[in-house]
Amino acid sequence: MPTSADLDKLLDGWQGRPTVAVIDLDVLRENVRRFKKLVAPPTLLMAVVKAAGYGHGSVPVAKAALAAGADELGVATVDEGARLRGAGIDAPILVLGPVGINERCRALSKRLTLVASDLAFARGVETDKQMLRMKQPAPVHLKIDSGMRRFGALPEDSVEIARFISDSPHLELAAVMTHFAGADDTDPAFTMEQARRFDRACEAIRSADVIIPQIHLANSAATIRFPELHRDRVRVGIAMYGLRPDPDVDLPDGVKPVMAVHSRLARVFAVQPGESIGYGRQWSASEPTMAGLVPLGYADGYRRHGSDRYWMSVNGRRSPVLGRISMDQTVVEVDSNARTGDRVIVVGNGTDGVAPTLNDLATLIDTIPYELATGLVAPRLPHLYVQQGELVAIADVSGYREIDPTALGG
Ligand SMILES: *Cc1c(COP(=O)(O)O)cnc(C)c1O
Repeated sequence: MPTSADLDKLLDGWQGRPTVAVIDLDVLRENVRRFKKLVAPPTLLMAVVKAAGYGHGSVPVAKAALAAGADELGVATVDEGARLRGAGIDAPILVLGPVGINERCRALSKRLTLVASDLAFARGVETDKQMLRMKQPAPVHLKIDSGMRRFGALPEDSVEIARFISDSPHLELAAVMTHFAGADDTDPAFTMEQARRFDRACEAIRSADVIIPQIHLANSAATIRFPELHRDRVRVGIAMYGLRPDPDVDLPDGVKPVMAVHSRLARVFAVQPGESIGYGRQWSASEPTMAGLVPLGYADGYRRHGSDRYWMSVNGRRSPVLGRISMDQTVVEVDSNARTGDRVIVVGNGTDGVAPTLNDLATLIDTIPYELATGLVAPRLPHLYVQQGELVAIADVSGYREIDPTALGG
């Protein structure tokens, strides 16, 4: 955890855009260790780093998570998996989402594990596998749709697909999986119903003499709420970043937000009664007001819907957003002590006193922290990676670079 002195040093020394995301890799590692403790061996911990590591940056997050004990990685697309391989990451990577026919070959050649949900796809993988003339059979996870109605084979079709994969000399049925539609709901009834449907489908597959080496079901919410659903592997995304799957789901003890967003006042100015601020003249002053300009906007993932709802922390004081959030700029109310260059906490990490967390901001605009986090992406919003109080990596317009590659582990 960077002390406030470390943070001052980091932000004062930063030569780039004043608006930055600070990603604390020590917090990330601690979160991963907490989840490792929560799931008893031999259950594996898959760190889900899709969507640029939920906006945090997939490569540094993946390296830190693996160094802290995560067993494997989950991504949504072949591109995301290839990016990790390109960074020299060797751990097993599962592509959780559907994969296009024209990218299967690339996925296999990058040693990405694919999820099959129909016979045609499994056949296609087998053909690609033969074309690539790879020696080892390609591991495939069979996904069963137990009620999500999105991606996955219906239980009644799953025996045939499982048998095909298992019988193929080029494929290996590595696991059978499913995904919950409402593991974060207060009422666990549908989650339990999905688990029962899944178990019945697995039973049918085993009755057809197909061996299922592993099964996995749980996302963050299910991992936290239902230890009985951990089974052979948990797939933890949002909670690893210290964000809640739902406002009603408490995170395990010691799990904290990994990312904060900092900026500086670009300008401080007085607004007179009757004057409005910004596009659409949505907010007008009813009394003399001091305003501060913050160089960040909806193009940085600071959602326009937060106009007149969001707030920031300026010099430890709660500063509401005034008027519309623009593409690149936002105006907040400040007090008469505020000066150009003063530090602003746009998103706090829960340890910096008065500052909204991503969970708070999500609640204010009636969305989920998933959506907000995945919008806060480099390179436009430079990402600074900190470990033991030191800057260890940067992602900005010049690309991603590690200052001390050994520090990141992986
Ligand atoms: C994204 C995803 C996860 C992780 O979900 P969280 O709620 O972020 O923990 C798990 N499994 C699958 C199939 C996913 O697509």
